[in-house]
Amino acid sequence: MATVRTAAVIGGGIAGPVVASALRKAGVEATVYESHPTRSDGAGGTLALAPNGLAALEIVGAAEAVEAAAQPISRQAMAVGDSKHFALPGLPDVGPLRIVHRSDLYRALHDRAAAHGVRTEYGKRLVDARESGDAVTALFEDGTSATADVLIGADGVHSAVRRLIDPAAPGPRFTGMLGFEGLADFEPPVDRETMTFAFGKRAYYLYWREATGGTRWGANLPHRPLSLTEARRTPNEEWMATLRTTYGEDTPGGELVRRTDPAGLQVVGALHMMPPVPHWHRGRMVLVGDAVHAPSNSSGQGASLAIESAIQLARCLRDFDRVREAYAAYERLRRPRVERIAAMAAKTNRAKAPGPVAQKIMPLLMPLFIKAAMNPEKTIGPAQRYRIDWDAPATADRARA
Ligand SMILES: Cc1cc2nc3c(=O)[nH]c(=O)nc-3n(C[C@H](O)[C@H](O)[C@H](O)COP(=O)(O)OP(=O)(O)OC[C@H]3O[C@@H](n4cnc5c(N)ncnc54)[C@H](O)[C@@H]3O)c2cc1C
Repeated sequence: MATVRTAAVIGGGIAGPVVASALRKAGVEATVYESHPTRSDGAGGTLALAPNGLAALEIVGAAEAVEAAAQPISRQAMAVGDSKHFALPGLPDVGPLRIVHRSDLYRALHDRAAAHGVRTEYGKRLVDARESGDAVTALFEDGTSATADVLIGADGVHSAVRRLIDPAAPGPRFTGMLGFEGLADFEPPVDRETMTFAFGKRAYYLYWREATGGTRWGANLPHRPLSLTEARRTPNEEWMATLRTTYGEDTPGGELVRRTDPAGLQVVGALHMMPPVPHWHRGRMVLVGDAVHAPSNSSGQGASLAIESAIQLARCLRDFDRVREAYAAYERLRRPRVERIAAMAAKTNRAKAPGPVAQKIMPLLMPLFIKAAMNPEKTIGPAQRYRIDWDAPATADRARA
């Protein structure tokens, strides 16, 4: 049993409330410090939780609430141009993807954390941290501080904790694309449980029919780097005009962007992925979620991996006597898996935003890409079949790591 009694969790997105809930389950008192002033701030758009993410949420008792708020997607299809449309084989015995609005997911996770006895403090932006022998103190922008046995950086892709652990740590890499999401007042002839990944004439997009009517779509627009603030400075009408030019000739992409009210457009901004992070922990500080392994949205696994890592970190802190050993075991358990999934997503990114050379050979590459997608045990099996045995001691995982 570890000597850890208290934890300061920095960031109340997805990994934050999950690691705090799992720590409470392990007997550690955890407090979440979130920079946003309120809990639903900025939580627009939707995301797809994979079966492995849902299974990990079961451990902290949050799966049911998330499922209740989500729409199931049990079939996937791929479209290349207007003529080629393929049903992608799925895994026969795993559940569907669950599409959930970010704000509903955050609410479910925070409600669950509160039920576990986790306290969340808003308006607390971490700016620095100090370690003494057996404690670590988080310093916040508002001049306050919090001291705990361990400090967990669940503060997302632009993590401040990552820089505190290693000032030379790499930052997120731009994938070459901006993200947008919209809801079209139009329904293409596909069934309600199918998500289609479409490689249009100029850019990639995906879509599925909403349970409540209309079709929700996400666009990955090849673009120069643009911060979220810069992207949101451009009026939605202007972005919609760009999207109509880009997708206008695609079926059904053209119809989807023409039939979307610009007022409801979600401008997500630059899409990022994290390169491998050399140092996951230092002293009493450690990273979890996008702060250490954002695999890019192409994986469809960012949130699910963040949830898994949160559970595994809590499990290691529960079972190892020393913090250093717990962190090392956690990294051994998680690094190979998250880096493998990130590398696969990076390949998909290259197909979505091909450079000039790749664009020329894309017609040759696409059949190979499709052939790979036809083998789901290889492409999605390892990601989606992963399950965590919470009750098994993490010390026993050492032999397998
Ligand atoms: C367009 C897009 C689509 C996506 N689609 C999917 C999908 O379909 N499926 C999927 O699994 N994943 C998807 N993802 C990825 C997913 O959103 C992330 O992997 C997930 O949000 C990571 O959770 P996290 O808790 O690590 O980080 P975040 O959700 O980013 O949470 C970090 C939190 O830390 C807070 N914070 C930041 N800095 C500080 C600080 N200094 N002090 C205190 N608090 C701080 C932030 O305000 C935030 O609340 C998508 C991402 C994008 C951009």
